[in-house]
Amino acid sequence: MSQNTPIRTRIAPSPTGQMHIGTLRTLLYNYAFAKKHHGQFIIRIEDTDQKRLVPGTQQKILDVIKRYGISWDEGPDIGGPYGPYVQTERLAIYQKYIKRLLDRGQAYYCFCSPARLEKMRLTQTKNKQVPRYDRHCLSLSPAKIAKNLKQNKPYVIRLRVPQDQKIICQDFIRGKIVVDSRQIDDQVLLKSNGIPTYHFAVVIDDHLMKISHVLRGDEWLASLPKQVILYQYLKWKPPIFVHLPVILNPNGRGKMSKRFGSVSAQSFLDRGYLPSAVNNFLMLLGWNPGTDQELFTLKDFIDSFNLQKLHKTQPVFDIKKLDYLNGLHIRRLTVSRLSKILAPFLPAIKEPVLEKLTPLLKERIEKLSEAHCFTDFIYQKIDYPVDLLLQRGADKKLALDMLTQARDALAGSPNWHFQLIQQILLDLIAKNEWNTGRFFMVFRVAICASPCTLPVVDVLPIIGQKKTIDKLNFALAKLS
Ligand code: GLU
Repeated sequence: MSQNTPIRTRIAPSPTGQMHIGTLRTLLYNYAFAKKHHGQFIIRIEDTDQKRLVPGTQQKILDVIKRYGISWDEGPDIGGPYGPYVQTERLAIYQKYIKRLLDRGQAYYCFCSPARLEKMRLTQTKNKQVPRYDRHCLSLSPAKIAKNLKQNKPYVIRLRVPQDQKIICQDFIRGKIVVDSRQIDDQVLLKSNGIPTYHFAVVIDDHLMKISHVLRGDEWLASLPKQVILYQYLKWKPPIFVHLPVILNPNGRGKMSKRFGSVSAQSFLDRGYLPSAVNNFLMLLGWNPGTDQELFTLKDFIDSFNLQKLHKTQPVFDIKKLDYLNGLHIRRLTVSRLSKILAPFLPAIKEPVLEKLTPLLKERIEKLSEAHCFTDFIYQKIDYPVDLLLQRGADKKLALDMLTQARDALAGSPNWHFQLIQQILLDLIAKNEWNTGRFFMVFRVAICASPCTLPVVDVLPIIGQKKTIDKLNFALAKLS
């Protein structure tokens, strides 16, 4: 890489739906690479496939990128020196280059009707041939073309793929890829509605926007030869292509898909993952630092990222690892910050109570959405079978005795501070020679309606004396 070439990378989402989690990974790598080299990171909206557009998704994509803490140097909302950054706003630009290709005979008009193309495809498939355009319109005379145009016949513009040539593509990860031009279809460059196809627009835009490196998912590798032909025809130097191995489903089979839950970047936030943790997880999903460091902030990632350490193999989306990293990131937050982030996940809990619960939750949850399982008992009367109270071999008689004495002792407590509550319970255990573990398990279920909870004595000052006694009475009613 020349020292003088500014590093400019881009992400080019299509507004056809929510942003896929895999696109977020691609974005992070592009972003980190540009930032590491003090270059620019650009967002371009590729909206040429008008049939698949979903209104409103462009804004949603920009919003979710922001939520993940990433900013861009040029893009549809902020503009920049090479705008506009939405492809359908660049139609006049594409016309100029289409004309250039037509003039040089590197592209041609095709007036074939959809019906003819369909018939052609069917025949080819029947004859076990790979469907491709049969070049019916390649040799139309200029006079015939002029006549058709005059009659307003609908047309597309196709790429004239060179005959019998080896198309040499370079990919940073895979090296040199040689493709026989006979395998390449005469791709449509401009559709009949005047809108370019992806293949054409991407080349024009990457060049005009001075993109130096294209990091993208390797599902785009198959398009590379067509794009390389266009770079050759237009006499432009292609960017450095880096096709990232596609992310596999958690079971290791198939491209990451909805089969294992929603795959949109937004849905991970909705499910209680922190942006910093998802980012951290994605950073390591196809790249490694060469050390055993596993915790990365965006800044760490920018500092460490390099193309050499990108993986060649397809990474598996390991949800357990994501949960684990999320837990690590949660424990790095301050209590007041975590408390604020938890609030939308615990709407029933008032702020002062939440502040007190947060230090207890912080050590226990891996996802923000798990917090409610630990806290539902505070505001809800959760019913449970009486047998749940019979923990660690306690029978009904013993449980009844334990909880009756605990209720009476706690009801008589002159204050409701942790120290005193704990002392009262420990004294009771000692006096009765109860097994401490068994007592607390029975007591825990009585208070929290579940054997796995926050530390039960810590919870009592938070829920208050009255609620504690009520919960013990509820349990006692079951036992008697
Ligand atoms: N518009 C393509 C997408 O939706 C981007 C392909 C590319 O990066 O070249 O992912």
